[in-house]
Amino acid sequence: MWFSHLLAAALLLHSIAAEGFVRATTDKDAGYPEQKMYWTSTDIRWKLSKGGYSRMKQEEILDAMTRSFKRWSEAPCHRVNFVYGGLTDERIATFNRKDLESNENSVMFIEKGWNNREYFGAIAITSQYYNAFNGEIVGSDIEFNAEDYTFASSGKLTEFDPTRTPMDLENTAVHEIGHLLGLAHSLTPAATMYGQANPNETIKRDLHIDDILGVCAIYGDDAVLNTPKSGGCSLAPDAGSSHGGGFAALLLAILLARRFLLKSRA
Ligand SMILES: [Zn+2]
Repeated sequence: MWFSHLLAAALLLHSIAAEGFVRATTDKDAGYPEQKMYWTSTDIRWKLSKGGYSRMKQEEILDAMTRSFKRWSEAPCHRVNFVYGGLTDERIATFNRKDLESNENSVMFIEKGWNNREYFGAIAITSQYYNAFNGEIVGSDIEFNAEDYTFASSGKLTEFDPTRTPMDLENTAVHEIGHLLGLAHSLTPAATMYGQANPNETIKRDLHIDDILGVCAIYGDDAVLNTPKSGGCSLAPDAGSSHGGGFAALLLAILLARRFLLKSRA
């Protein structure tokens, strides 16, 4: 009870101060009204790519990812649970618009070919597939850039190739899961959802009050799911999307947004 009052007061202050967490919004340039993004499911199932990561054992990755998901599901107002669904054959972020049920929310490490894509230098990317009519997130994939960075879990960052930058897996994962849930980059430098990270950084492993306010604004008891709001961060719609009529329009209205974490310039 006390928490919901505190939360309501804090959310009010947030709206007055106009800084801190930012909810992800749909791309208004795609021809639909801008909507806040959210999941309607209370159980989000995620899978780990069979491709794994050559520098970590699957169990080690699974432990770090499980801890990372738990950070968010433990937020005091949170209604979303994460369920581990096992291994998947998926090796790169993909979404099948023709068979919605077949889609999986996958966690993947890209060790080769990252820089052939348009996300040069990003530490990790979360792809969001969403219904442009209402902002509902229908799928999400998290990819770690293991070509330019070396990821490790707790205390294992001592052995790495000096030509690549060491990054704490959990620090990165907790940030990306915030995107998966529907948060964009926070304006608060100490927040998990701040858009830059340093090598060996671990501060993002633990949620800042700003991150808790953000997730509670989406999934708390007083959450307003999809009131259009201005602002948010830039989105990258799928270049191949277009709009038709009827059922086809619904499928084609599933668009893609990608958000990423960058290395600090310091
Ligand atoms: Zn980010």
